[in-house]
Amino acid sequence: MTYLLNSPDDFADEAVHGLVACHPDLLAEVPGGVARSTQTPQGQPALVVGGGSGHYPAFAGWVGPGMGHGAPCGNIFSSPSASEVYSVVRNAENGGGVVLGFGNYAGDVLHFGLAAEKLRHEGIDVRSVGVSDDIASNSPENHRDRRGIAGDLPVFKIAGAAIEAGADLDEAERLAWKANDVTRSFGLAFDGCSVPGADEPLFHVEDGQMGVGLGIHGEPGVRDESLGTAADVADLLLDDLLVEEPPRGENGYDGRVAVILNGLGTVKYEELFVVYGRVAERLEERGLTAVRPEVGEFVTSLDMAGLSLTLVFLDDELEKLWLAPVETPAYRRGAMPDVERTPRTSTWTAAENEIPESAEESRALAGKIVGVLEVFEKVCAENEADLGRLDAVAGDGDHGHGMVFGSRGAAQAARTATEQDGGARTTLLLAGEAWADSAGGTSGALWGAALTSAAGVFSDTEGGSDQHTVDALTAGIDAILRLGGAEPGDKTMVDAAVPFREALAEAFDGDAGEAIASAAQVAREAADKTADITARLGRARVLGEKSVGTPDPGALSFSMLMAALGDHLSG
Ligand code: ADP
Ligand code: MG
Repeated sequence: MTYLLNSPDDFADEAVHGLVACHPDLLAEVPGGVARSTQTPQGQPALVVGGGSGHYPAFAGWVGPGMGHGAPCGNIFSSPSASEVYSVVRNAENGGGVVLGFGNYAGDVLHFGLAAEKLRHEGIDVRSVGVSDDIASNSPENHRDRRGIAGDLPVFKIAGAAIEAGADLDEAERLAWKANDVTRSFGLAFDGCSVPGADEPLFHVEDGQMGVGLGIHGEPGVRDESLGTAADVADLLLDDLLVEEPPRGENGYDGRVAVILNGLGTVKYEELFVVYGRVAERLEERGLTAVRPEVGEFVTSLDMAGLSLTLVFLDDELEKLWLAPVETPAYRRGAMPDVERTPRTSTWTAAENEIPESAEESRALAGKIVGVLEVFEKVCAENEADLGRLDAVAGDGDHGHGMVFGSRGAAQAARTATEQDGGARTTLLLAGEAWADSAGGTSGALWGAALTSAAGVFSDTEGGSDQHTVDALTAGIDAILRLGGAEPGDKTMVDAAVPFREALAEAFDGDAGEAIASAAQVAREAADKTADITARLGRARVLGEKSVGTPDPGALSFSMLMAALGDHLSG
């Protein structure tokens, strides 16, 4: 359990705050995360690495000379939002473009991707590298589609060292991908982790068993095996990793490997060293040379009992970068050249939102929109624990948390907008941005985009009708389909949203509330039916089989919110 906290909701932010207080020579707090506290040379590419919180030293602990230039920090286990990524880049980039580094997860891909679009639009060159080292999550032929775990460390270390040595953006991107393509990790857990404030761990592994192929967000393993000795564990991890050793003598690889034995939370250093003893023996037997091996905590998962082993198959170029000096809060090696460092002098912050002029009718409608968002907030809060539990079966357990944060942020932003006399369109637009910002995660990005799209149906100068309400819902669902790219049958919220959209069109004859209420029943049945299918998209994909028998949390929360909306409007 996470014992020490002031409030579960503030846990992630307060941890970043304390980290910066501890390392003012290296880190500065900026909106959305951290950046280096010192200026970087004009024209040097920036490496901005990030993901959810709960993985320290990943990612904020890796910001400093020789590695990251900034790190957006999301909520526990959920990706930072697009605006957080954007804001950290604006604070870290200094004319050389940016490499965005993140683990290859749907939520991170979505939010980092949205930020990249906005940055490109403003003339900043952006390259995205999704780390994909986890061999349990996909086949060798699909290496770049795997998810990222402890491989974040060598990939970002190597890219950061290249930048420190003078690489331009093309070169930094090339080396990051090159490192990712030769990095393989495999992990296992003896028990699950619990997010701050939760009464229960996200999952349990039975006594005497271990979950093999676990994820770092509390995703359980892909199979259970009986727990053996430390040597058995080392053998199990190495056996599967070595299947993917590239041929020696080709592409400059001759048997040198960077080795990272990573503790996920509660496994102690001594235990790790006992395991490493066997790893070292096996590597030697196989004629492999461990290059500057690392044993410790690098990519953690709160209090998860587990560990992972990473191998990076090196050539001369990668070895040199792996061994180069680095100075970050959590990762130091060698001596950085003695260059004078000037403190950063300014912080970029987003401009205040402009509230356009509005008409009375539209302001009245905006008030009703606030009422709807407050209903959403209430429903999400009531179902937080259940939605989290459903997501923990095959996902990462954060769906309830994400929906609560998202709906609360949206309602708050909408209230603020109406207090400043915002009309319906502006109010819903700001609510959508706030939902994505507050929630992070895949569903946060999708709900945020849905509200933003729905806003386009309304205006700030006119009132709305029942037809507008139906059109807004349709526009919102269309945005979810466009952005998420899921189809019915993929076991996502789309499985509830598409039948809902059809039923709504059919049922609507002038009374939006009644039509929504009846379409919500169709959505609920469809959501319940997702229990029968295997997940093919999102975090649950990796553990698709495990999801059979459990409905999709996003489909269920969608149907709950539509049912509440129908009640609210017709009641
Ligand atoms: P994350 O998956 O990032 O942890 P959440 O747990 O908040 O985000 O949301 C999970 C839900 O998001 C899933 O149950 C699913 O309904 C929905 N989802 C995931 N990927 C997609 C997608 N591509 N399109 C539509 N919905 C998706
Ligand atoms: Mg989730």
